[in-house]
Order: sequence, then C-alpha cells, then structure tokens
Amino acid sequence: MTQEFHKKVIQHPIFKLIGETSEELGMDSYVIGGFVRDYLLNRGIPKDIDIVAIGSGIQLAQKVASKLKGNPQVSVFKNFGTAMIKHEDLELEFVGARKESYQRNSRKPIVEDGSLQDDQNRRDFTINAMALALNPSNFGQLLDPFDGRKDLGRKIIRTPLDPKITYSDDPLRMMRAIRFASQLNFEIEIRSLQAILENKDRIKIVSEERIVDELHKILLSEKPSMGFKLMHQTGLLPLILPELTALQGIEEIEGQRHKDNFWHTLEVVDNISENTDNLWLRWAALLHDIGKAPTKRFHKKIGWTFHAHEFVGSKMVYKLFKRLRMPLNDKMKFVQKMVLMSSRPIALSEDHVTDSAVRRLVFDAGDYVDDLMTLCEADITTKNPKKQRKYKNNFKIVRQKIVEVEEKDQVRNFQPPVSGEEIMKTFNLKPSKEIGIIKDAIKEAILEGDIPNEYEAAYQFMVEKGKQMNLKPASNENE
Ligand code: ATP
Ligand code: MG
Repeated sequence: MTQEFHKKVIQHPIFKLIGETSEELGMDSYVIGGFVRDYLLNRGIPKDIDIVAIGSGIQLAQKVASKLKGNPQVSVFKNFGTAMIKHEDLELEFVGARKESYQRNSRKPIVEDGSLQDDQNRRDFTINAMALALNPSNFGQLLDPFDGRKDLGRKIIRTPLDPKITYSDDPLRMMRAIRFASQLNFEIEIRSLQAILENKDRIKIVSEERIVDELHKILLSEKPSMGFKLMHQTGLLPLILPELTALQGIEEIEGQRHKDNFWHTLEVVDNISENTDNLWLRWAALLHDIGKAPTKRFHKKIGWTFHAHEFVGSKMVYKLFKRLRMPLNDKMKFVQKMVLMSSRPIALSEDHVTDSAVRRLVFDAGDYVDDLMTLCEADITTKNPKKQRKYKNNFKIVRQKIVEVEEKDQVRNFQPPVSGEEIMKTFNLKPSKEIGIIKDAIKEAILEGDIPNEYEAAYQFMVEKGKQMNLKPASNENE
C-alpha cells in the first residue's frame, strides 16, 4: 500500500486543516480507530472521526474550530480530556494520546499522557488501532504497529496485547469482539475466543447500557445469527439473555419430538433481517418464542404443547427489557405486541383464509399489521419445500386480503361508527353497562362482516340490538 493511496483516503480538506493546525501548535496528530478501519474496508466514510493528538486534544480542537467556517462550538469534556466539534455532517472527537494501566483491584484504569504507541496499545483490536498521520511532513502515512491491515485482509479479530489481559481489563471488549465479527463477517482469533471463555463471568461488571449497545449492533448486522452463535459458543449468552439459552435442546418422549427453538429463532432473525432494518422488529424476531421454555408440556395424546406461550412471552419481554435497563417505552410495547400476536397469522392461514379472520387481525394489529406479517413470513423455517411453498402462498393470500378488507372497511385504528353518547341518547340511558354491550355488539358485527363499517348500518343495528335487550327508545321531545 503506497503513501499515495492513503493520501487519497483522507482527501477531505478537514484532515489537512487539522494536520496544519497541529503543526502550528508543535504537536503531532492522527486520525485513528473506526475511521481508518472502515475506510480501508471500503465501508464508506464513517461520520464519527477520532483524532488523537500528542499533546492537548482540547487545545487542538479549539484552534481547529476557530479556523472553520462559522466557528463551530467546541464541546469540552474536561474530565475525559476530550473535545468534540460538529462540522458539516461529521462529528470530530479530539483526545490527547494516553497510556492506560489497570490495577488488579479496580475497574478504572490509571490514565497518563502518552505517546502514539501507548495510545495504540490501549486499543481493543489490531484493526481498531491503526492511525493515519495528519501533519504535513508525513500526511497520509499509516501507522500500524500490530499488523491491523493484514488482519483486515485475513478477516480476523485479534487483540494487540495478550487477550487474557485485554478482556479482563475491560470485559465489554468481549462483546465488542463478537459485535465486530458479526458486523464485518470476521473470525475471532482462537486465543481470543479462549480468553473470552475464561473471562466470560466478568461481563457482570459491565453496565447493561454498554452491553445493550453491542446487542443492538449485533442485531443490526447483516446476519445477526453470527453474533448470537458466538455469544452461545463463548458462554456469554446465558449470562446476558438466559431466555434464549433456555430454548435450546430437543426433547423426545414416546417418539415425539419438538424442534430446537433456539436454532429456529436464530434462523428467524436472519430471515427477517433480509426484509427489514427495523431494529425493534428484529428484537421481536429474537424474542418471539421465549415463552416456549416455561410453557412446554408433554401430553400423551397430543404430544408437545406450548400453551399460551405468546402471552407468557410478551410478559417476559417486559422483564427482559427492565433487566437490561432498556427504556420501557413504545418500542418495548411494540415488541410485546409482536410477540403476543406472533402466531395469529399462522393460525389464520392454516386452513381457509376468511374475510372476518383477516378483519380481526387488522383490527387487533392496527398499524403494525405489516410488521406482523413480515415477522410471520420470517418464522417459516421448515426444510420441507412443499410446506414452505404452501405457507408462503397462504401468507400471500392473507396480505392480499388485508388490502381488500382495508379498502372495504377501515378497521385499522377502529373508531366506533356510533358513539356512546348517541346510544345513551337513543335509549335515554345513564352511563351503564348496557352501553358497553351495545358498542361491543356493533364492533363484533362489523368484524364478522354482518354489517359494513358505516354510520347508517351501525345505527340500524343499534336500534335492533336495543329492542332485543328490551330497551325503550327515548320519545322524541317535539312529539
Ligand atoms: P463504531 O463506531 O462502528 O462502533 P468504532 O471502532 O469507531 O466502531 P467506537 O466505540 O466509536 O468504535 O470507538 C472508537 C475507537 O476507540 C475504536 O476504534 C477503538 O480503537 C477504541 N475503543 C473503543 N472502545 C474501546 C474499548 N472498550 N477498549 C479499547 N479500545 C476501545
Ligand atoms: Mg466510532
């Protein structure tokens, strides 16, 4: 790789400006880490760029900002010795090179100023430790003390120093190794895998938030199963997501077996990832069967059952989110809803697909009906080509019917065509349970297809229903 090539890599004028500015301040500066890795991999230019200065990163940031158009604000984090500038669509993070040493009894490293080499030594992986020089005299030179470039070519995740120490010092790196392997389709070097296996229990000292960040990135990779398989293989999975590990295994009683729901789940996650980048829908795929472990029973006559696993699973979603300190917000509710409804389209498409069943599905799923269909399509993992074709075709019919039903009756985000007030007025009722009964009957009649979702028809139906309930219409005041 020639120096010319690297010059091209960092064509963006900001790099030249940073280099010249650091020269004026009498310090050296480098772009380091994810930027260098992703650019050499042709993954495009990352928006967050880490600059390391041999000297004060804050001072460099301030001088750079003063030269930029519009003098962007510099956010200084004194405690960390870092400074951040937003410039165009880039986030530039400046830090002084440092040396870290970890004491056995403390998780917090001792941090001192250091050389570039010191700074590279404290980085997690060889492919994340590469730096490109920015000063005019050596602009574009690659500084790669651990052969990170070679590892990029060999597609290997390797630590610069002894992996046992690297992972023990900051156990989050175990998750980062797996995340990068999954994102980049790399292999983790065997010594690293062994070190993760030995250090896995130390993941407990890492905050949930940092772990969840890595889980999100694994889930968003092209083939998330890769990351989850590595978590499984290294023993991290039961420490972080025991609900998934519990799905593993096939039991056989009296010749009756059920499928291995762990490996099935990983297939579903890969399938859905071909069709959606929605992180929360991918979470739903990951968790859609977790209720199967606690609900598994064997019955002599019918074999294996997982009665109400969708309901149990949706309750487990809440506990899991809470344990991992993920926000208990709309996203969580969405995942719960997907898990709760995950078997509905399947049950519906098993035999004849009726209009009323589809109408009920749209009514219950609301705006999430398309996501639910995407989940159910991904759930088809049968290796029997005939069944595979049949299920897929049935879902196609369901999707068509959803469109038809939607055109006829708008039951998505259903609003009752006759209001409670109108019912009260019609029969001269005070707020009472009769109103609920009539409202429910109208809704049922619409979902069944007995009446269209329109005011006139619903009004007539209400009058009839009232008669059946021996309610007297209120006399017209003008009569
Ligand atoms: P991405 O931004 O895609 O997550 P990245 O490599 O830029 O990838 P960041 O978390 O942004 O990852 O970190 C920037 C750089 O800081 C990394 O490339 C690595 O050199 C270093 N780094 C980050 N976290 C750690 C860690 N836990 N231990 C050691 N070095 C780390
Ligand atoms: Mg980054």
